Amino acid sequence: MNRYIDINKKSFFAFNIWDVNSAKAVIDAACNCSRDVILQTSERVFKELDKKEFRQYIKDYSYEKNINTYLHLDHCRNIDVLKKAVDCNWDSVMYDGSGESLQNNISNTNICSEYAHNSDILIEAEVGSIIGVEDDISVREGGIASLNDVNTFLQNTSVDLIAVAFGTAHGLYKGKPILHYELIDQVKALTDIPFVVHGGTGLSDEVFKKLLSYSNVKKINISTEMKQAYRRGIQKSYENNLLLEDGFEATKIEKLINDEIFSAALNKMTLLND
Ligand code: 13P
Repeated sequence: MNRYIDINKKSFFAFNIWDVNSAKAVIDAACNCSRDVILQTSERVFKELDKKEFRQYIKDYSYEKNINTYLHLDHCRNIDVLKKAVDCNWDSVMYDGSGESLQNNISNTNICSEYAHNSDILIEAEVGSIIGVEDDISVREGGIASLNDVNTFLQNTSVDLIAVAFGTAHGLYKGKPILHYELIDQVKALTDIPFVVHGGTGLSDEVFKKLLSYSNVKKINISTEMKQAYRRGIQKSYENNLLLEDGFEATKIEKLINDEIFSAALNKMTLLND
């Protein structure tokens, strides 16, 4: 099993999970299409998890399924929590300084990079603010990063992955998103660092295919869709009369939920072409 994410060569979907069951469903999907996969925990989920046990489970189950599964800490705004994830052997971490001034974002990112790199852990950072709600983080304003800011950020940091706000949003889209694809190319002209797409839920397969056609797009994040899959599992349980008090069987409901998460992850991973 590889310890380090092969992010410069392959493209990944990174799925937000929240427990062993949701992680297992995504690993099963990755195994079904023989792909390595990134699982990510939000800052809140990370804090709530039994980290040692969870890390061990992911390692053992992926080994059994013969794939590499990488654990990533998503959108972390607390430097101490980020350091803890490094200490708990997460494979990569994201410092989200998008709510800070550019200068503070740079300084904090550098503190986090140094800590992560000392343990050979990859670090992702964000420039511009990706709007929407992601677990406990809510961003109302922002949207599109300035290329000047991206350039200044890259000149003054040494991150391994860069998330640039280019029109995607966290959560469910209310209308058709307007994506500034030109920023992906402009960032590529500045750096070899992989470009991370946030706000994957609700983008069409055509948009995913277009995004994946950019050689620097290496990580696309999907979170809300995973939670919606969980919700569909409960909805189906209700429709199939599995929530009745009489004869209630938890395992039947969990199977429907896991099947939904499995399919949602598999549908995305089959779009990968490298
Ligand atoms: P969605 O919740 O819109 O899928 O966004 C996921 C994400 O970018 C997590 O960082």
